[in-house]
Amino acid sequence: MCGIVGYIGKGNAKQAILKGLASLEYRGYDSAGIALMDGKNIFVEKKQGKLENLEKALECLDLNSSLGIGHTRWATHGAPSDKNSHPHLSMDKTFAVVHNGIIENYISLRKILEEKGYIFKSETDTEVVAHLLQENYIENDPKKTLLNVLNKLEGSYALGIVSSHFPEKLICARKNSPLVIGKGINENLIASDVPAILNYTRNVYYLDNDEIGILSKNNIEFYNKNGIEISKESHLIQWSLEQASKNGFDHFMLKEIYEQPNALKATYSRIVKDNKIDFDSIFTRKDIEKYNKIYIVACGTAYHAGLIGKVYFNNISKIEVLSEIASEFRYTNPFVDENTLVIFVSQSGETLDTLEALKEAKNKGATTLAITNVVGSTISREAHKVIYTMAGPEIAVASTKAYTTQVLILYLLSLYIGVNKKNIDIKQYEEFLKEFESIPTKIEEELKNSNIIKKISERLKDKYNGFFIGRGLDYQIALEGCLKMKEITYIHTEAFPSGELKHGSIALIEEGTPVIVLATQKNLIEKTISNIKELKARGAYVITLGNDNNFLKEVSDEFIEIKNTTNYLSVYTAIVPLQLLAYYTSVAKNIDVDKPRNLAKSVTVE
Ligand code: GLU
Repeated sequence: MCGIVGYIGKGNAKQAILKGLASLEYRGYDSAGIALMDGKNIFVEKKQGKLENLEKALECLDLNSSLGIGHTRWATHGAPSDKNSHPHLSMDKTFAVVHNGIIENYISLRKILEEKGYIFKSETDTEVVAHLLQENYIENDPKKTLLNVLNKLEGSYALGIVSSHFPEKLICARKNSPLVIGKGINENLIASDVPAILNYTRNVYYLDNDEIGILSKNNIEFYNKNGIEISKESHLIQWSLEQASKNGFDHFMLKEIYEQPNALKATYSRIVKDNKIDFDSIFTRKDIEKYNKIYIVACGTAYHAGLIGKVYFNNISKIEVLSEIASEFRYTNPFVDENTLVIFVSQSGETLDTLEALKEAKNKGATTLAITNVVGSTISREAHKVIYTMAGPEIAVASTKAYTTQVLILYLLSLYIGVNKKNIDIKQYEEFLKEFESIPTKIEEELKNSNIIKKISERLKDKYNGFFIGRGLDYQIALEGCLKMKEITYIHTEAFPSGELKHGSIALIEEGTPVIVLATQKNLIEKTISNIKELKARGAYVITLGNDNNFLKEVSDEFIEIKNTTNYLSVYTAIVPLQLLAYYTSVAKNIDVDKPRNLAKSVTVE
């Protein structure tokens, strides 16, 4: 997520930081800021919006500082605004802090600090760190000061800190958010990603969890969480700037596919506390009792996430649920009233079709809930309630990690409503939650095994059309796999319920037509095998995704084995190979994977 840059050394800190932030722009952000040491004071400037807003504000600044920190923010707590932008200052202005990640216990920390008289200027979780540094300051000891504060924090952080108490030190720490340290000659840097420091050095250290770094112009010291000095190995970066911005991946889409385990863990841990789903600040008991119908409204990939959600709400919450394409919502005369919960799913939170549907639902008196990835986005502000996915910025046009995190929120919400309406018991609820916990690891294992998928993509690349089929939840997964294939390979594919193909479209199957068969639903395998046989008899080239099953393997031309999980959660183990299949086929066809033709990341027209 977003970006941190810090500089200490012989050169001009402002220039180094602005240059570094510019090279992190690809990560996505909504505001930017900088803190520079100015003798005994800290100068801070921060602006909502593009980096150029900050650059403009700094144009006339005549300050030759050699120590500072900068930040591009991707808001998680508090909407994008000047005052919520980083750096944040302690009340006495002796500490400035930039932060990536989430301080999960910030509410209780803020309360304690407010009781002690600290006045907060922002709505962020981060500001508690600045005040805590002031509160825990130990003279001449940056290490102890920082460790005292870190001991009180829960959640994830990469922190960059400067202080007028330590005017020749750049201080940093990390837990579950990346931070690299660049070692130059008479200058050292910190950054959340390598591109930000490549203009200065190729010598880097990767800070590990629970480690801190204290940098001066000519020296870098590392400590563990007990304050013991540790030595770390430096790495020589061989990547070009372009490769580095993708963290060594060839494309953002591939990087984002690989980020899914972490995005899912971040989303899960934001919502599930002590094995309990915590939506209590969003819904009252009365709300839950009142809802007798749910609508899920979205477009494209988010609509497909909604279709999976529909299956969850039907089966787990046992509540009537309808899903609708956002651009059609207004024309279907939806039966929506004050007892309906209408859920709007949108990665960017700016999708105009979805926004218009939201206004319609509000007019009809429904409660509206946004599920979005962007804090402060229009849809998040317009809806009565909002739940954020913690996918981090998604750059590639074809959505991957936003989809899987949207599905997770819908899963958790269906469990929450189900258990609160007493439609599932606590034991089932706990089992459903427990099963999810192994999903990130299963995805990681699948990602190590992409060779078979690469091989199949070589055979798909010259095809002009194809089909995806599935039964039950497999059909909803097929729809998303099919959309990925269309978006980035330009191969015309269609998704069908397995039993429906024979009612017409099977006429299009000829020798070699690829059909991708989803066979993850354990109770439906036999019927799926019959469907595969129908296809094989007409010459189809059948690629099947399923768990280890000899019958499936025998009847298929290609078999992609996926990790075993419950029927509901197989969306995860199946969609990742499908994303990879589309990705590698696109690469084999030499297509601009991250920016396929005719498409935009955020669709703000009707
Ligand atoms: N949670 C912090 C905020 O909302 C940091 C977000 C980030 O990583 O940019 O300000």
